[in-house]
Amino acid sequence: MSHPYGMVVVMKRTVRLATLPLNRRKYSELLSLVASYTEAKRSFVSRLRSPSMWALLDRGESFRDHAKAQGWYPAGANVHLIDQAAFDAVDTCVRHIESCLAQADVKARVWRRFADEGTRHYAYACLARYGSIGEIMSGGVPAIPTVTLAEKTRVAVASYLHRTIRSAINRTWPSVFQARSMALDSTLYSVVEVERPGRTPAYRQYVRVIGATPRSRIALPLAGRSRVSGNIRVVLDDDHKRAFVHVAYNAASLGAATGPPVAIDWGITEVCTDDSGVHHGTSYGEALVSMTERRNTISKARGKLRAITKKDAGSKRARHIARYNLGTKKQKARLRRSKAQLRTIAGAAIKEVVYGEGNRTRSRGRVPRFATQRPRSIITEDLSHLRGKAKSKKVSRMCASWARTENEERITVHAYVGGSDVKTVNAAYSSQTCPDPTCGYVSSNNRHGDTFHCRNPYWDCAWQGDADHVAAMNIKARIEDREISRFTAHTEVKKILEKRFLRRKESRTRGTGVPTDGTASDGDRACAAEGEATAHGRTPSKPRGSVPVVGDSLRVVDSQSPGFVDMSGETQRLESEKKRNA
Ligand SMILES: [Zn+2]
Repeated sequence: MSHPYGMVVVMKRTVRLATLPLNRRKYSELLSLVASYTEAKRSFVSRLRSPSMWALLDRGESFRDHAKAQGWYPAGANVHLIDQAAFDAVDTCVRHIESCLAQADVKARVWRRFADEGTRHYAYACLARYGSIGEIMSGGVPAIPTVTLAEKTRVAVASYLHRTIRSAINRTWPSVFQARSMALDSTLYSVVEVERPGRTPAYRQYVRVIGATPRSRIALPLAGRSRVSGNIRVVLDDDHKRAFVHVAYNAASLGAATGPPVAIDWGITEVCTDDSGVHHGTSYGEALVSMTERRNTISKARGKLRAITKKDAGSKRARHIARYNLGTKKQKARLRRSKAQLRTIAGAAIKEVVYGEGNRTRSRGRVPRFATQRPRSIITEDLSHLRGKAKSKKVSRMCASWARTENEERITVHAYVGGSDVKTVNAAYSSQTCPDPTCGYVSSNNRHGDTFHCRNPYWDCAWQGDADHVAAMNIKARIEDREISRFTAHTEVKKILEKRFLRRKESRTRGTGVPTDGTASDGDRACAAEGEATAHGRTPSKPRGSVPVVGDSLRVVDSQSPGFVDMSGETQRLESEKKRNA
């Protein structure tokens, strides 16, 4: 069963196995089977559109049992196959709801809207069950057994969620399916190997999937030999009249990693940059740009040809062009090759981050066995609200967002295998903020292309470095940040960063000492340092050239610590005035 909810999360790796081209009879038999599967799935998905049905989404079996009891199963079809279609329909609807909620940032909105812990807890508990979401969408107020909350508050949360989710889902529902694939559990297929004496290859592997009638099977010959088990998906390839068998393997974990955490900044010119300044996968940019350029040139040329075929529609020339120049076979193959190239580069880079330097290929057995050599956590930017925002003009939006989604999925799988946690943080202004913990000046002028140069006009900071390295350092610092959470709005992030900078500036001009030496979140030490500074009068400005500590000890100044809240009333007034004017 493929339904991901209410089960222990097990990381899967999908492998795609091609069959040999199928003969006409076999292919059409498979096609009609997939068509009846798709037809059943389509009807289930449309029935699941009604929120009153969503209680059945929490367990795939509940919907299957309900559908059977209601007599929604088509007569004459293989019942086991329709069961799979029912599970698949639930999966599709769940994914749709989840992606709508993620795109509309519903969790972040809840967090911003309700300050009270208990209220947030109730809202998140509602969002965790499709039954409760459905109840809310039908106008109800769900009772969550673990939460005791005043009726009035629950009603307020439910009505807020109702409005937010309604606009997120906005009358969209998955509906159009091509008859292309079907999911099968292990009872619906078997694997046989046939020996072929005196011929190459000496063995042929077949996946025998259920047929349309009881006891009949369709034998799909695989092009290679592989381990086929568990849930599979059979996907038709109409261009080559063959099929692909997708097999999901459980990824085995190496055990918990204990090495120092690593932060990465996803890039466009390289796959990513870590917080020690190492660029991983430096040939990535070139490959991405050439993928984009190739797409652009070809689509321009195709546009011209299409215009010709429209102009003299029906002519011999137009027919010739349509047949020989405007086909999609080569175009699809080209895209497939570009993507494969990008995947190879990204895979190597991500493995380097997860398994350590010089460990590009696991197949060569070079993964360090020592948990201390693998980062216990990998800190990345939360890009859910920035989706589709391309960092480079040369790389198309489509390519950039495809690459990003791929890389995020990939690092999740490898981190699971390497025993590292993936933590996401709010990355707003991470490439525009000075990483020097005694400075922290925020300005878009700090960044010019690939280089970062602090333009702090108040004192001579002039930190210089690689922009992606700076971003990774700031991303690492955010994990310790108690004020900036993943859900903090980016306008709010800027306000917080500016407030911190202002405090550092004030304490400098007032001569109360350098506000932080990288250990400022330790309140006692900050106080002690301040006391010392006051005792010795005006502290000379911090000598330049001292390189800030990079790595674990780097922290963004924590404005909650007592060293920074001793501003005079006047300063505070000035500051709040500034904020009002801004
Ligand atoms: Zn600076």
